[in-house]
Amino acid sequence: MNQDKSEELYRQAVEVLPGGVNSPVRAYKPYPFFVSKAKGSKIYDVDGNEYIDYCLGYGPLVFGHANDTIIESSIEQLKLGTDYGVPSQKEIELAREVIDRCPCAQMVRFTNSGTEATMSAIRLARGITGRDKIIKFEGTYHGAHDAVLVKSGSGAAGKPDSPGVPNDATKNTILIPYNDEDVLKDTIDEYKDEIACVIFEPIMGNIGCVPPKEGYLEYLREITQENNIILIMDEVITGFRIARGGAQEYYGITPDLVTFGKIVGGGFPIGAIAGKKELMEQFTPSGDIYQAGTFSGNPMSINGGLVAFKVLDDKFYKDLHSKGEYLRSNIRDILGKLDIPYQVNGVESMTQVYFSDKPVYDYASAQLSDTKGFLDYFHGLLKEGVFIAPSQYECCFISGAHTTEDLDKTLNAIEVVLKSLQ
Ligand SMILES: *Cc1c(COP(=O)(O)O)cnc(C)c1O
Repeated sequence: MNQDKSEELYRQAVEVLPGGVNSPVRAYKPYPFFVSKAKGSKIYDVDGNEYIDYCLGYGPLVFGHANDTIIESSIEQLKLGTDYGVPSQKEIELAREVIDRCPCAQMVRFTNSGTEATMSAIRLARGITGRDKIIKFEGTYHGAHDAVLVKSGSGAAGKPDSPGVPNDATKNTILIPYNDEDVLKDTIDEYKDEIACVIFEPIMGNIGCVPPKEGYLEYLREITQENNIILIMDEVITGFRIARGGAQEYYGITPDLVTFGKIVGGGFPIGAIAGKKELMEQFTPSGDIYQAGTFSGNPMSINGGLVAFKVLDDKFYKDLHSKGEYLRSNIRDILGKLDIPYQVNGVESMTQVYFSDKPVYDYASAQLSDTKGFLDYFHGLLKEGVFIAPSQYECCFISGAHTTEDLDKTLNAIEVVLKSLQ
């Protein structure tokens, strides 16, 4: 496979962009491919190679790239303005969509990224309770702000902290393993009067893909409610990917606050916080807990989200889910015939393969897998025309644009690559 132009662009990029990229996980060795265009399930590099894309912008592109309906509507919106600085009707409409779909949502505040959403949700919880401590799970990622940049999975996995994050900024962040009821109970027993909130990813998507154990989410809801601790479900990945009403509908667990991002803008930059009215109203200007953003609720992102929601109906999810199941069951068949230890984790359109003989249910168990072997798998797949995120600690996504032919080609590639690796 020829990637000469990508190599040359990377050489230029590292001169002007730290590490040659604008977000760290994009930089893999020896150099990432540079994109020329993308459409549907495919992404193309500057050397003319075509890849079936399972990275999908790290989650937002639930319809695949450059969806025609979103393109048309966005062109119309472009002509009407891209940033107003005053409220507009579509913000109400998108808020109503979120409220209609999502069990815990009675009010919504839109932001520009998932990072801003979780940062503001934590501030809201702290402001309302007057408490400083938060519980976060090892390996969850809630964006790049200080309070949650502790064992945070994804690009930061394995690094306990980032230089530049003051100890004071994380000293109130209590880290515990996911899927362990006893540790959760002991921690809440010890600190309950000091804890503002528990923030969690219902399906951990930043150490691969780690679903909740049966009963765990019910327990988490119960114990936080009993102790008046605000429960924040971070649905930046799962929101409107895993079900019409997100993971909270899927698992039947209603948190106090929820954060969204990725899918909610239909491919445009966005984030959102939603939840109970009495909590949400504490945000400025109705309350006094500060939250703001120049581009928040901008018409391009809001319009993108509105169009997306029109397409995200029950039929769409049924079709998307069946593709995930098809992919996973066939990957299991392929791996079952080979002499490679493996786990295939996944929920509906989220999937990850771990080369490990131990089940992966939290951060520590994810770290037992062969991450070097995973990179060989990644590079092998790339050569076969299949692009997955270049890290064991990311998740593979499927979009509505992926066809059975795409999936079969992918399975074929997976088989070729795995056979060469055993
Ligand atoms: C991606 C992600 C974020 C951060 O969202 P950005 O838009 O990248 O700031 C927060 N939480 C989870 C679960 C994510 O996957």
